[in-house]
Amino acid sequence: TKFVEIKNISKIYHTLDDETKALDNISFDIGKGEIVTIVGPSGCGKSTILSIIAGLVKPSSGDVFINGEKIVDTNKAIGYMFQSDHLFQWRTIIENVLIGLEIQNKVNKESIKRVNRLVETYGLGEFKNHYPNQLSGGMRQRVALIRTLAIEPELLLLDEPFSALDYQSRLAVSDDISDILKREKKTAIMVTHDIADVIYIKVLLKK
Ligand code: ADP
Ligand code: ADP
Repeated sequence: TKFVEIKNISKIYHTLDDETKALDNISFDIGKGEIVTIVGPSGCGKSTILSIIAGLVKPSSGDVFINGEKIVDTNKAIGYMFQSDHLFQWRTIIENVLIGLEIQNKVNKESIKRVNRLVETYGLGEFKNHYPNQLSGGMRQRVALIRTLAIEPELLLLDEPFSALDYQSRLAVSDDISDILKREKKTAIMVTHDIADVIYIKVLLKK
């Protein structure tokens, strides 16, 4: 069954004196619960396709359907994890994790309880009231990952989740991602320029 349907997507970026064809007639499907990785060199359009699926960028042509609905009129929660953690420095870890729910106006006793559980399950309990600059890069990426889960997304989009990290943290964040994907049973798309990331995650997922 098709959960995400990408149909004939093209994207041309226009600048003042130039245009770039970032995507040329891309089509593919993803089933519910599938974990898909997209690998390719820098500049090949990976971020662009994720941004289009997330509804952050409008395609020049083509459509994206999630559960049969065009993304323009879907209200499905999509969790987007960026290359760098994009945490708000002046907010504590728990306040950062809650931000998606704030935007959706869904902060209440129950959701706060659920988010606290999530934060504890993934080993961030003791850092709840810390600020991002008190955590390592790998831990900050873990916070970013948990933040995307807080909105209970049906689809997780991971954009080069390791590229800003040193080797040690890359392994740790790979562990986090595979752990979360296994436990939460989410449909996920991960993009990376490094095939080694894909192989490592795949091994972890099979463990
Ligand atoms: P990747 O994520 O694979 O590195 P991107 O999707 O970021 O690739 O970029 C694909 C191509 O589109 C690149 O040539 C990039 O320079 C160009 N591009 C991306 N975003 C923009 C933008 N906002 N304006 C103009 N060109 C862009
Ligand atoms: P990635 O590492 O995923 O390829 P980039 O570093 O290419 O990401 O892009 C970072 C940001 O800059 C993105 O928001 C992208 O849309 C934008 N961008 C990329 N290339 C261009 C460009 N040629 N002109 C304007 N914006 C761009």
